[in-house]
Amino acid sequence: MLQHELQKWFGFDSFKPGQQAIIEHVLNGKDTLGILPTGSGKSLCYQLPTYIKQKPTLIISPLISLMDDQVMQLKLHGEHYVSCIHSGLDENEKQQNMQLLKHSRFIFLSPEFLLQPHNFKLIQNLDLGLIVLDEAHCLSEWGYDFRPHYALVGKIIDHFPEANVLALTATAPPYLTSDLNQMLNKNFIIVKTTMNRENISLTHKNFEDDHAKLKWLLPLLEHSGPTIIYVSSKKMCLNLAKAIYQYGFLTGIYHGDLTYQERHTVQHQFINNEIPIIVATSAFGMGINKKDIRTIIHFHLTTSPSNYMQEIGRAGRDGAYSQAISLFQPDDSYLLETLLFADVITEEDVNTFELGMFLPPEKIEILEVLFSYYSIKQLRHIFATAFQRKKQGYHRMLGYKQLDQCRRAYMVEFFGEELSEKPNHCCDNDSELIDINIVNRKKVKRKMDYNEKLQNLFK
Ligand code: ADP
Ligand code: MG
Repeated sequence: MLQHELQKWFGFDSFKPGQQAIIEHVLNGKDTLGILPTGSGKSLCYQLPTYIKQKPTLIISPLISLMDDQVMQLKLHGEHYVSCIHSGLDENEKQQNMQLLKHSRFIFLSPEFLLQPHNFKLIQNLDLGLIVLDEAHCLSEWGYDFRPHYALVGKIIDHFPEANVLALTATAPPYLTSDLNQMLNKNFIIVKTTMNRENISLTHKNFEDDHAKLKWLLPLLEHSGPTIIYVSSKKMCLNLAKAIYQYGFLTGIYHGDLTYQERHTVQHQFINNEIPIIVATSAFGMGINKKDIRTIIHFHLTTSPSNYMQEIGRAGRDGAYSQAISLFQPDDSYLLETLLFADVITEEDVNTFELGMFLPPEKIEILEVLFSYYSIKQLRHIFATAFQRKKQGYHRMLGYKQLDQCRRAYMVEFFGEELSEKPNHCCDNDSELIDINIVNRKKVKRKMDYNEKLQNLFK
């Protein structure tokens, strides 16, 4: 029966692992958390029920690129009734989408947009059948961090008691389920396959300094295929891109300060193989539907296993062999700790906030949003827990860089998984790894000034 619907709406013969179970729960009206690896067809888990239920679905999504990608996929599939509103649209497009909204099957919006009362009016009377939280890990990872509106999506969900919730993610830290249950006052049924991506090999390398990292990295890029290099600061993003460019490769940069248009251009050039390498901060990659990314380099380690798994997961969506390589040098600890703890809200900050004393405006902004929903006591508890989790995740990553056992087992263990079978090319600690050998052609011929070239990239 479901198979028949799958064939009818999508032309696929069978479900991928996990899909059918999730869809059955959704159709039975259950709130469901689906944890399936990247590329395993999570979108279909809400698309098929939408067609079957014949009611509109709201998809709450954290990133513009993610929305754009899914909207494009739906349109390619022939779906006209899709609307999506975000800050990257011009006024005209926004108006068009607002008009479309009441007739849409699929509605893509961000939490920030939805939580503004005049925007909420646009959807409050819709007869939603399903609410999807895409990349649901963002709820507990960002909700109390830099996007507090994420922690308030419960307000939206409460308004639609008839709609059940489908939370989807590829990365579920052990506390995600209880966070979701608590934040949304639900009792999620979990469907989980695995977070392990067998086709991605894991390697870590320690160096003396950045110079040594670079000396090792540049020759590797000659045959690493489509590659993303993650760095932890905008400054490093620019410097590294410059070094790679000088070495002869066209390189894109991607960080939070680029405009929507600039990001869009870089993404497209990468997807269309016009540039083989992108140097990016963690803002890049979610929702990039490029299936043949072969190499993910972490020039700086991430501060948590969740981020690491999320970022390397962008490689090898086509199932072919791919590699994830992280680099470390002693000064990086300082960088990572600054990144992790500099702007963190502590229990003391909550006390200061309660007393109305001085706090940096960014912190006040976050606390004010959260205070509209949570009590001071709850906030104290929330931030104390968040701090502990950050420390825990960071320590796990510090362990990763000096590990002498299987890296894969170590990683998935953090998420409560046990590795049943190891792939042939598992990690540098316990297998012979094969080199990726996909040549990245050197394209920079005429000596152009770097800034000039970057300008061209964005045209
Ligand atoms: P995810 O969100 O889990 O990373 P997507 O939803 O983007 O994955 O789906 C990845 C690809 O798998 C898409 O091209 C989609 O059309 C395809 N796909 C989804 N379900 C099936 C299926 N049952 N059979 C074949 N292909 C599928
Ligand atoms: Mg997806």
